[in-house]
Amino acid sequence: MSDSGEGSTKHMVPLRAGIFRLPDTPEGKPVLLGSRCPKCGAYYFPKRHICIGCGHDGLDEAELSARGKVWTYTIAGQTPPGSLVEAPYALAVVELPEKVAIRAVLTDVDLDAVRVGMDVEITLAKMKEDQDGNDVVSYKFRPV
Ligand SMILES: [Zn+2]
Repeated sequence: MSDSGEGSTKHMVPLRAGIFRLPDTPEGKPVLLGSRCPKCGAYYFPKRHICIGCGHDGLDEAELSARGKVWTYTIAGQTPPGSLVEAPYALAVVELPEKVAIRAVLTDVDLDAVRVGMDVEITLAKMKEDQDGNDVVSYKFRPV
């Protein structure tokens, strides 16, 4: 938390708290935080308290994989009111190896090249700056 004089040391602020863990550097990858059932092994995202599969109450926090596959997607042609992304963009449901589905915007991608089954990885995305000049960040997925 100390400015050592190496130019501007901005801080990163998550767009939503508790959904993912910030990387140590702006080049790093965020880690999605879900839940894992200690009884049956099912994973969930976002976090839950009770397992849908077996009814167990008291799930553990679990770090989810950084890579997955596009399970389905839509190309959004219009920017929703109040949205932080600009149309056109690809909104995908990414399936992770833990069998959880993550809704996320794809980035660094040619919209014509998006395919079901495409390998993607999580990446940090700056959404805006807050009033203090900090980068407000979230996650997106990009082709591997
Ligand atoms: Zn369970």
